[in-house]
Amino acid sequence: MAMNRIQFQPGLSVPAFFEQFGTEAQCEAALETARWPEGFRCPSCGEAGHSDFRVGARKTFQCRACRTQTSLIAGTLFQSTRLGLTIWFLAIYLISQAKTGLSSLALKRQLGVSYPTAWLIQHKLMQAMAERDTLYRLDGEIQVDDAYFGGELPGGKAGRGSENKVPFVAAVSLNPEGNPLYIKMAPVPGFTRKAIAAWALADLSPGCVVYSDGLACFAGVTDAGCLHLPTVVGDRKPRDLPEFGWINTVLSNLKTSFGGAYHSFDFAKYGLRYLAAFVYRFNRRFHLEALPQHLLAAAVSIEARPEAWLRRAEASC
Ligand SMILES: [Zn+2]
Repeated sequence: MAMNRIQFQPGLSVPAFFEQFGTEAQCEAALETARWPEGFRCPSCGEAGHSDFRVGARKTFQCRACRTQTSLIAGTLFQSTRLGLTIWFLAIYLISQAKTGLSSLALKRQLGVSYPTAWLIQHKLMQAMAERDTLYRLDGEIQVDDAYFGGELPGGKAGRGSENKVPFVAAVSLNPEGNPLYIKMAPVPGFTRKAIAAWALADLSPGCVVYSDGLACFAGVTDAGCLHLPTVVGDRKPRDLPEFGWINTVLSNLKTSFGGAYHSFDFAKYGLRYLAAFVYRFNRRFHLEALPQHLLAAAVSIEARPEAWLRRAEASC
């Protein structure tokens, strides 16, 4: 991997962050621009004309045509928050700049909020990352592999279908030079042809060329209009074969990330979000400096995700 290009990026320095987003007014202005890049539009009728005032601390817009009142944060990930936007922006900054992810506990310490609040912030932002990446599919040449959460960490494949493990598919797209472009990781109900076909329909563009280690279920990608080129490896693990070099590197990075950043979490319930946070960061690895702005855009483009919703894993997976 062209790691130097990633490691030596300037990123957004702490002083530069505070210069841009250090006050509530600056964060409010950034949020308004992210939500309405061309200026306020009434969510009810589309009218641009408006007046604005404050309801408590929150900037609120009143549509000139239909009189609907819209709070700056209503209908976004920040809806109903009692936290200052400076805390949210700092969380966005910390999460987007942390190379190996950030636990709720680390976030609690750095933001000076309670653990339950830190948990909510972390899960809301990871949810925004997850929903953002569902907009994109992989195309071209793809390496895929089967992996598991729980028990052994991803990459340490002790045996397919072991107890207490959550299966997920990992895929990386390659450019014509054979270097990685984007990744996708998705929990699946099991390694069945049906599950892989459903995954491929959601995450791959038709016409992809998919390289797998020959596990039978991966033939399911052909049901989604992709070409499947299996390499039958017998007893050899695909990690030893050059055809699977990048997917193995990615899974190994994931293992390092999860081992370093998080102590333990409910894999079955929240695995999708942790995977999504890793994937989101990987897919934007050449744009570290712009990452907070991207994440802000993701946060204003998804609906409110209250705690009860976030804890109902089946609704979010
Ligand atoms: Zn209106």
